Amino acid sequence: QKAGKQPPLPSPLRFSKFFQANMRILVTGGAGFIGSHLVDRLMENEKNEVIVADNFFTGSKDNLKKWIGHPRFELIRHDVTEQLLVEVDQIYHLACPASPIFYKYNPVKTIKTNVIGTLNMLGLAKRVGARILLTSTSEVYGDPLIHPQPESYWGNVNPIGVRSCYDEGKRVAETLMFDYHTQHGIEIRIARIFNTYGPRMNIDDGRVVSNFIAQAIRGEPLTVQVPGTRTRSFCYVSDMVDGLIRLMEGENTGPINIGNPGEFTMIELAENVKELINSTVEIKMIENTPDDPRQRKPDIAKAKELLGWEPKVKLRDGLPLMEEDFRLRLGVAKKN
Ligand code: NAD
Ligand code: UDP
Ligand code: UDP
Repeated sequence: QKAGKQPPLPSPLRFSKFFQANMRILVTGGAGFIGSHLVDRLMENEKNEVIVADNFFTGSKDNLKKWIGHPRFELIRHDVTEQLLVEVDQIYHLACPASPIFYKYNPVKTIKTNVIGTLNMLGLAKRVGARILLTSTSEVYGDPLIHPQPESYWGNVNPIGVRSCYDEGKRVAETLMFDYHTQHGIEIRIARIFNTYGPRMNIDDGRVVSNFIAQAIRGEPLTVQVPGTRTRSFCYVSDMVDGLIRLMEGENTGPINIGNPGEFTMIELAENVKELINSTVEIKMIENTPDDPRQRKPDIAKAKELLGWEPKVKLRDGLPLMEEDFRLRLGVAKKN
């Protein structure tokens, strides 16, 4: 051999050679609550390769520990407000803190995540020709004047309130999705998610179901924020993941409401938690936070008709499933 001439390198070994993977999927925010359950479901399909991009603000590697090291899985520490270069077929774009305590902590960052983060993921979708699904929120309806909320309702949102970084941020994210769709022909899907609960929620993330369950297990009073008559409709996470995948795989752009129409006041929720988890705890009324929406319940006619989807898990069946996970993490066994 002449000096300087090297033997050819073997061609790069692609995963697909071994696994026949035919779908590479990016999940932003995949280390979070809903994202990690979505990853579990996507990984069950041997034809999927999953890449998670997450900055671990509210998510954790712990939620993904069973996949770390798996040959079809990759975890990237990445903030979606920065450019991301990967080659994928589908993007589930979830990255964004969802609990009011966390999204209000750094509101400017929350807006950047929603606006610049979604812009970047759309730029990525455009470059590689991927289909992209945004997890929007029932918060786009604000403090709704129509009940239950159909997708056609434009909402009643305070643009300068403490929740605005989140709800206005998601509204701009939806606008960006549609503008990339009409201007650049990007394939988009928008889910409007209503309150979701289940295992792996952050124990101290301040949302009502996780608060009440942790309080009941610790034997502390259940803190109902006044007046206690505000309503929410709670969807179990396995139903949510099923709805998101159906939306991604279907033909409709949305927006489509995904949520459980079973509606409860916060006092009713506290009473259910008390009865199911710890009948000795008291229910205590405490101060509320500003701009708390009075009522929320999804109209899911569109999801039923277009996705053939409706939730299966009732609140009273879902709460005990979440209790198990919280007891394990809190290290408090159930007394018989
Ligand atoms: P979560 O806070 O558990 O998960 C969000 C994930 O995004 C976390 O892993 C976090 O670290 C990551 N993240 C945040 N900012 C990021 C950034 N700039 N770059 C990269 N990663 C970032 O919340 P969740 O409940 O799993 O919510 C997931 C999605 O669903 C969010 O988009 C949220 O707005 C939406 N949603 C949730 C609910 C609900 O009830 N849980 C309701 C409506 C909408
Ligand atoms: N982008 C990205 N990954 C890509 C392609 C684009 O993160 O693979 C980001 C890029 O940083 C840009 C944004 O997406 O700021 C919007 O991209 P687009 O091509 O639509 O707009 P432009 O770059 O022309 O402003
Ligand atoms: N809430 C409550 N006690 C708590 C936390 C929340 O009564 O410890 C109430 C809150 O006032 C609101 C509802 O529960 O009416 C849902 O609040 P959460 O923060 O879970 O979600 P979101 O307001 O985003 O729907």
